[in-house]
Amino acid sequence: MKGPWEGAGGRLVGLGVSQGRAAGPMIRLGEPPKLPAPGPVTDPGAEAATVGKALEAVAAELNRRALAAGGEAAEILEALAMIAEDPILLEEAERHTAGGHAAPHALDAAFTKHREALAALGGYLAERAADLDDLKHRAVASALGLPMPGLPSPGHPYVLVATDLSPADTAGLGPDVLALVTERGGPTSHTAILARSRGLPAVVACAGVMDLDDGTMIGVDGGTGEVAIGLSEQETSEVVQGETARRARLQASRGPGGTADGHAVKLLLNIGSAADLPQGEDGADAEGVGLFRTEFLFLDRKQPPSFEEQVSAYAEVFARAEHVVVRTLDAGTDKPLPFLGLPGEQNPALGVRGLRVDRLLPGVLDTQLDAIATAARQAGAEPWVMAPMVTTAGEAGDFARRARAKGIARVGVMVEVPAAALRAGRLLREVDFLSIGTNDLAQYTFAADRQHSVLADLLDPRQPALLELIARCAEAGVRAGKPVGVCGEAAGDPLLAPLLVGLGVTSLSMAGVCVPAVREALAEVTLDECRERARAALE
Ligand code: PEP
Ligand code: MG
Repeated sequence: MKGPWEGAGGRLVGLGVSQGRAAGPMIRLGEPPKLPAPGPVTDPGAEAATVGKALEAVAAELNRRALAAGGEAAEILEALAMIAEDPILLEEAERHTAGGHAAPHALDAAFTKHREALAALGGYLAERAADLDDLKHRAVASALGLPMPGLPSPGHPYVLVATDLSPADTAGLGPDVLALVTERGGPTSHTAILARSRGLPAVVACAGVMDLDDGTMIGVDGGTGEVAIGLSEQETSEVVQGETARRARLQASRGPGGTADGHAVKLLLNIGSAADLPQGEDGADAEGVGLFRTEFLFLDRKQPPSFEEQVSAYAEVFARAEHVVVRTLDAGTDKPLPFLGLPGEQNPALGVRGLRVDRLLPGVLDTQLDAIATAARQAGAEPWVMAPMVTTAGEAGDFARRARAKGIARVGVMVEVPAAALRAGRLLREVDFLSIGTNDLAQYTFAADRQHSVLADLLDPRQPALLELIARCAEAGVRAGKPVGVCGEAAGDPLLAPLLVGLGVTSLSMAGVCVPAVREALAEVTLDECRERARAALE
């Protein structure tokens, strides 16, 4: 039968990474400009003036978008605008115009040099180097008199289609974006995480979508990954009505998590600070915090946070949430912490990250454990505390002893490394609970960088090898009578949640916006049906 997802022009299928449906005209993200062949320059002064105007235009555009975006997105956009206004960058470009280069080439050279300098510094600044490419494209387009690449503003709602989205693009998404479809990207990519946190339907790794014309009416299903092309007006309005009804139903969803036959599954929140906790009636009705990513509090810091500062940040969360699982600092690769001053590494994802930082800087973990215990006493709370990137039972035991010595009663570890999953039973002799970080566990199981768009299929949490490792942990939990939760992005996927429960997982921790859809998905199936899905997926 021809449904709304077939469309008159056929359909494409990618990877659905953020639930929900949307329909509307698609618009492709402006592509980076191509540099023209270098030609003779007659007036270096005019070229220098063009350089100055281009950089000003880039900064003004970013500041304008910052104003419209507000919040954390505004901070990212303002920081990018400051880079465009950096006098060193201007001087470098002017040096090139004085040397006989046209403005676009001078900008290209100056940004490239700036990028190399940042990359050489390593750590957080090296991570920012990629943002410079985005700024360069904007500046070069402006100097060439082309429309600035980046987010369109057509004046009406639209589905944003792109090869991939940069951090600047994702941070600047306005309310007129109905859904996202990208040709690249994986389930734990920037685009996927942002889309989920904003409740925007999204499909990634959708081959061929950039070949469609702007203005084509498309339907997007962020659950199944389907993109229907050429929807009629009637089909579009059916999608919109269905989605409005779905959102209203989810908004009203309340209560503890569990299957249709009453098997309880705790639904918890992933947070980076107290600001992510629900405010008032509209917030997610979760049963506590399953992952407090403490490193998010200190990502941009050059100086270590003081003991008192840590105590107050933790106590604020403990005072506002009933049950909190705190993760000790997880520094490294995608989350560098400049204040630690860790040396650069050839292969950082396999280097000193997470709990391993303790090998170089032992004081950091002990101070943090002390601060968590002090905050708990102040708030009258009993947080559970876990360590990231644990690999062996020896590491788990050492962490547990040190945490307990500070007075922390419930100690656990994350399972993000296959070695830890394989030895889950042994780990559970040392600790009280396990929390499976499927983002990293997938990365390390499939030897595929979690940010790598070309490897998205390997990072799909439905991969049987990953599911087998999860099952092994859950079975170890049942034998030991100890909880085993999932706190990676997979936990917030309503299609996966029943499967994870079928594997034996006892709690699911996710971004607040994901809770209602996961609650609904679980309430529709019995525990036996969950187990059947798990069995089928493993096969
Ligand atoms: C994970 O790896 O799945 C996880 C939850 O940790 P993070 O995403 O913070 O690395
Ligand atoms: Mg992780």
